[in-house]
Amino acid sequence: MQVCTEYGECLRTMPYLPRFSYGRALLGDDGAPNRSFFYYIFCDQAMAIQFMKETGLLWSRVQCKTCGQDMTWSSDSNQNEGFRWRCQRKVAGKRCNQSVSIKHCSRFHGSNLTFQEVLLITYDIVCCEQARHIRREYRFSAHTVADWGNSCRETMVLFFLRAALLRLVVLTRSSKLMRASSVG
Ligand SMILES: [Zn+2]
Repeated sequence: MQVCTEYGECLRTMPYLPRFSYGRALLGDDGAPNRSFFYYIFCDQAMAIQFMKETGLLWSRVQCKTCGQDMTWSSDSNQNEGFRWRCQRKVAGKRCNQSVSIKHCSRFHGSNLTFQEVLLITYDIVCCEQARHIRREYRFSAHTVADWGNSCRETMVLFFLRAALLRLVVLTRSSKLMRASSVG
């Protein structure tokens, strides 16, 4: 994944990043981030959040549900995440003032876990780590690990179903084209 490669290169220039011998992949390889990548990118919260926007984990554009205007990405020290979407539109001197969490309509919506905790638990689940290992490593409750496990499985099933449907559509179209060209 190109975005991960670019952020990996950026992280390698950071003074806090240790060096591995023989150019070994501290942050993952071939655009596939590893666990260290998700540790180190959160040393810079703003960089981590920008990464999540560019990979589609967070929305990079949100419309105000009151007035339909594109909302503005604003810093907000009252939020755990440090940012919030705000509508800046003024009509007849009156500001709309609608705002939503940057977790809005994302995988993080409704969760009390931090972004980093969600990415780490997801990474371990995708890597088929045992639930008891994940609980012991981060002190998550059994309930939290089970919930995220179910959520990840649902997402993966949907992904493969969509991929299978797309392949079916492509195959059907190409066989129709072949039939049409053989008739012609
Ligand atoms: Zn608005």
